[in-house]
Amino acid sequence: MRTGSVVDIVGNTPLVKVESLSKITGCEIYGKVEYANPGGSIKDRTALGIILKAEADGLLKPGYTIVEGTAGNTGIGLATIAAQRGYQCVIVMPNNQSQEKYQVLDALGAELIKVDPCPFANQNHFYHTARQIAESRANSFWANQFENLANFQCHYENTGPEIWRQTQGQVDAFICSVGTGGTIAGVSTYLKELKPAVHVRLADPYGSGLHSYVETGKFESTGSSMTEGIGIMRLTENFRKAQVDDSVRVSDEQMISMLYHLAKHDGLLVGTSAALNLYACYEYALQNAKMGRCIVTVLGDSALRYQSKVFNSHFLNEKSVAVKPLL
Ligand code: PMP
Repeated sequence: MRTGSVVDIVGNTPLVKVESLSKITGCEIYGKVEYANPGGSIKDRTALGIILKAEADGLLKPGYTIVEGTAGNTGIGLATIAAQRGYQCVIVMPNNQSQEKYQVLDALGAELIKVDPCPFANQNHFYHTARQIAESRANSFWANQFENLANFQCHYENTGPEIWRQTQGQVDAFICSVGTGGTIAGVSTYLKELKPAVHVRLADPYGSGLHSYVETGKFESTGSSMTEGIGIMRLTENFRKAQVDDSVRVSDEQMISMLYHLAKHDGLLVGTSAALNLYACYEYALQNAKMGRCIVTVLGDSALRYQSKVFNSHFLNEKSVAVKPLL
């Protein structure tokens, strides 16, 4: 049993066996329950790793403000730990993310700045806006999760070893989507060091350029996605360290059908990136894996973080996304 402050209960998350998918495919499909983290997502790990490194390097001191551009979860992770350690937070987010994230950030006492979504090259992008704010404010620290390798490091030191221990080294494949690349880079590097045969697959939403980057070396994208926190159009320092064998695209319809399937058949309320990850695991198991293979992914956050969208039939209709039976 873990005891301590909020900082002490980041990580060491359970690994749930997704029984319905395991049964259909004859493989063992597992998800790291990252919504068990105190701020409700995998990004608590990154937030803690970045804060501890910045404190150790003397870049973050008592009375400082942490500034970050984020789709939301890293902001929530930073604000969670900042509340415990007495820092202020300024969080810059695109204004099209789920309202649940803004509400949580507000409750945690973060200063929230919403910007219009735009391409990365535009200086008004949330990433550049956060950098500019940090540059213009005294005593501030820019977390920079995309380029800061403390992000990679926390997954290399914690998430990867946890998966190894929880599967007793039986893991055969690791499949996940990418926001910064921290998770896939840290976990793939760790697992392949111990077992080079572990298959690592990127699962990418439409609208992201990573799938084409893995396949052709060029960032190209088609379509768009209602998933949040995943999909990018550039090479980050964190993703650069990822050891990826191949890549697949997952559509919103496949993702949302999986999200509803998991709720109904497994009692699992997973967020959009987690549903996308599990769709890719399911497909991999059906197409490539031999019976009994152990396939692992991360369940980055919970459906409850998006309930105003994913459990809202008007929203799904607007997006022309139908919930279909998996089989
Ligand atoms: N899932 C969720 C819910 C996220 O918020 C994020 C990060 N924004 C990811 C997955 C992607 O993780 P990473 O940044 O480590 O690539």
